[in-house]
Amino acid sequence: MNMSVPAISDVRVRIPLYAKHRGGAATPFTALLFAAFAALLPAACGRSVESRLEAAPTDRLTVLEGATMGGRYTVKLVDLAPALAASDLHDEIEAALRRINDSMSTFVDDSELMRFNRSTSTDWMAASPALVEVTAEAQRVSALTDGAFDVTVGPLVNLWGFGPDLRPEAVPAAADIEAAHERVGFRLLETRDEPPALRKHRPDIYVDLSAIAAGYAADVLSALLDARGVKNYVVDVTGELRVLGHNPQGQPWAIAVERPVPEVRSAERVLQIDGAGVATSGDYRNWFEVDGRRYSHIIDPRTARPVSHGLAAVTIVAPTAMRADALATGLMVLGPEAGYELAAREGIAALFIVREGRGFTERATPAVGAYAR
Ligand code: AMP
Ligand code: MG
Repeated sequence: MNMSVPAISDVRVRIPLYAKHRGGAATPFTALLFAAFAALLPAACGRSVESRLEAAPTDRLTVLEGATMGGRYTVKLVDLAPALAASDLHDEIEAALRRINDSMSTFVDDSELMRFNRSTSTDWMAASPALVEVTAEAQRVSALTDGAFDVTVGPLVNLWGFGPDLRPEAVPAAADIEAAHERVGFRLLETRDEPPALRKHRPDIYVDLSAIAAGYAADVLSALLDARGVKNYVVDVTGELRVLGHNPQGQPWAIAVERPVPEVRSAERVLQIDGAGVATSGDYRNWFEVDGRRYSHIIDPRTARPVSHGLAAVTIVAPTAMRADALATGLMVLGPEAGYELAAREGIAALFIVREGRGFTERATPAVGAYAR
């Protein structure tokens, strides 16, 4: 059996890396990722050249990984059944991720979502059940966070230069910010389950699901593994996780929450997770700087500007990765005080990492206690 010394943690939660990253020492690395991602976009079929399959039956762990959504995915699973070929499973995973990306990405020009964004109709537009499911969940989190989480924030994301069109780094003109702000508001967007459809209440609404789609993808892969009878796994899609069962040593999976500094990767805290989603949102891996001021890719829909409080990162544990992903972004907008209050009141497990001087302080809601090691 496995004779190796148990690792301190099985998985490190990383802040998702986006197609564009302009801050910190990791820039060349991320630029590289973007180049790889852009190169893969036209290859709608066939396994990506980046994907890797690592099956090591002797140590019980199978690792399936590759590129997706401007970052990477990793699926770690224990005791793959002999009847289940790792390469088949890997193909299924890649196909599922491709389906989600082709439907929900604003970085894929002819995705279902981008077709909706380009449409100027205010009638119901038929949409896939998956797109409606994710949008409806986004709307629920918008209601819960009083609009701090808002997927109609797309025009502002694009204006501030964090959308699919790479633009020069600069603070937009006030009039442009105003004009984009007019088009933002989750109540301007409606979803319908039967038959599945989306509807704009303004012709120029633009929806950006980047803050929730990776979490959804982790849930989809988790369901795929459940259906194949896999009982122990960690699914990681660009840093959003879904976790079940035990690690190869038979212990609960240990998830390291990263200290929010771009230069080094070190653990802030280790959580023990079984049967939940874990997501992190942060401002330290995707930002730009003008005149010594830092502009994050997380936009406050109320001010139409990047968040500017001292919150460096939020990690959420929730029943689904989709919920965790959306909540992490929403609480990142609300900040260390209002975000903490909401999470504590709602019984949400949230870990806030706040910048203080040259270091950080940590604040966890009581619900995080259930995941302490
Ligand atoms: P995440 O890393 O999950 O927090 O997602 C961040 C991404 O979500 C950004 O790059 C934007 O595309 C988008 N976004 C920015 N601000 C918001 C917001 N307030 N609500 C929803 N999505 C947002
Ligand atoms: Mg998110």
